Amino acid sequence: MNYKSTRGSKKFNFKDILFSGLAEDGGLFVPINWPQVNLKEIEQNITYSDLATNIIKPFVQDEISIKDLNNLVENAYSNQFSKGEIISFKNLTDNEVIVELFNGPTLAFKDFAMQLLIPLFDYYLDKEKNKLNLIVATSGDTGSAAIDAVRKSKNINIFCLFPKGRISEFQRRQMSTVTEKNIFLCEIDGTFDDCQRIVKEILKDYKFSVQNKISAVNSINWARIIIQSVYYFYTYIKFNNNIDNKVNFSVPTGNFGDIYAGYVAYKMGLPVNRLIIATNENDILDRFMKSGIYKTDTVVKTTSPSMDIQIASNFERLLYEVFDKSEKLTASEMLKFEVNKTLKINKDNSKDILSVFSSCKTTMDEIEKIIKDIYHSFGYVLDPHTATGLNASRNHSDSQHLNFILSTANPIKFSDTVEKYLGNKLDLLSNFSNLFSLDERIYKVDNTIQSLKDFITINKL
Ligand SMILES: *Cc1c(COP(=O)(O)O)cnc(C)c1O
Repeated sequence: MNYKSTRGSKKFNFKDILFSGLAEDGGLFVPINWPQVNLKEIEQNITYSDLATNIIKPFVQDEISIKDLNNLVENAYSNQFSKGEIISFKNLTDNEVIVELFNGPTLAFKDFAMQLLIPLFDYYLDKEKNKLNLIVATSGDTGSAAIDAVRKSKNINIFCLFPKGRISEFQRRQMSTVTEKNIFLCEIDGTFDDCQRIVKEILKDYKFSVQNKISAVNSINWARIIIQSVYYFYTYIKFNNNIDNKVNFSVPTGNFGDIYAGYVAYKMGLPVNRLIIATNENDILDRFMKSGIYKTDTVVKTTSPSMDIQIASNFERLLYEVFDKSEKLTASEMLKFEVNKTLKINKDNSKDILSVFSSCKTTMDEIEKIIKDIYHSFGYVLDPHTATGLNASRNHSDSQHLNFILSTANPIKFSDTVEKYLGNKLDLLSNFSNLFSLDERIYKVDNTIQSLKDFITINKL
């Protein structure tokens, strides 16, 4: 498989795009074409690992043998995912299914990508006896997932930026109590978008990045996207006897990574009726879907902090399709957007692409209400992010299709909020029972690009 940037025509291979994350021209990597998956050839009882190998194979072919890929996938998903099942499903009603993607080591769906992404880096680093310094901006869950995956690596240091006071205590402690020396947790006095901007600027400084062997593991990394597409297929296969049935997926959305992975699955042949973009008050994508105007606003701090984002980085990949895969148009529109913070498309010209999406914004009050309702009706505890997904799905009210709601985090990660709403304590999982008594290690780094560069220069591998 070859790849290109959304803003350029040069070709790249899988290893190139795995390690550089962002293209030199500032664009995001996309595959040249969409390999098709023939669902008729897939057994319903296929294991998650075998399915993952199948789906990912065409994207790494020529570079990683099937055998090596299968080993990597098996290792990623066999031990780390507790609870017996990689994904658990909870039927709420006949046509409403919660897809629990939080059985991994850090209790959010981001483990799916990280537990495989980091071994993919190590696969190449081991071969070449090379080292790597990863940087990542986190609104809470990416960081803990990345840190958990990196702590076992001898070849990688990680610099993880989080916005001070804007992630839950559970999330912070998951990262700050890790003792391995290759982990650097950096607190930035700013928002998630500030953290993300610093990371992007450092990656864009090609000379600095190459000199310091830097790469990123944010959701802009293509490998994460394709790894996440797997669970859309898996969910579909496990629930469908008739493979022609179309289904809906409602996805709590921030950076547009998870739902874009659903779009990729759709492009590869998954029968999707609708991908529902669920947002919180940070509703840039919901406003875009309604108006065709993509315009940033100030970030609102909410009870679903992993979605407190006003620039959805992966959205450029969809815009690229909206702009008819024109790298020139994408580049010029994105550069204008970077200056004016606003971008407008002609919705009528993009009907084909956008018609698979719909969107719904859920406010904090609505989150509270739905968490209480679902608890009282089903005895089931939703996390605040998943609550936006369920609310969006119900708003869309489609009884003709099966509605899957992706549950992106275990509610325990947001116990402060959830316990307040429900009036009782959630059980802390046994492997996290001492989380609140362990020592924390956090590095304070100024909210500037140069400060992080200095910090990396001192602490890199
Ligand atoms: C990261 C995250 C999201 C948003 O996912 P994107 O891929 O950024 O759209 C939603 N919910 C939770 C719990 C998350 O950690």
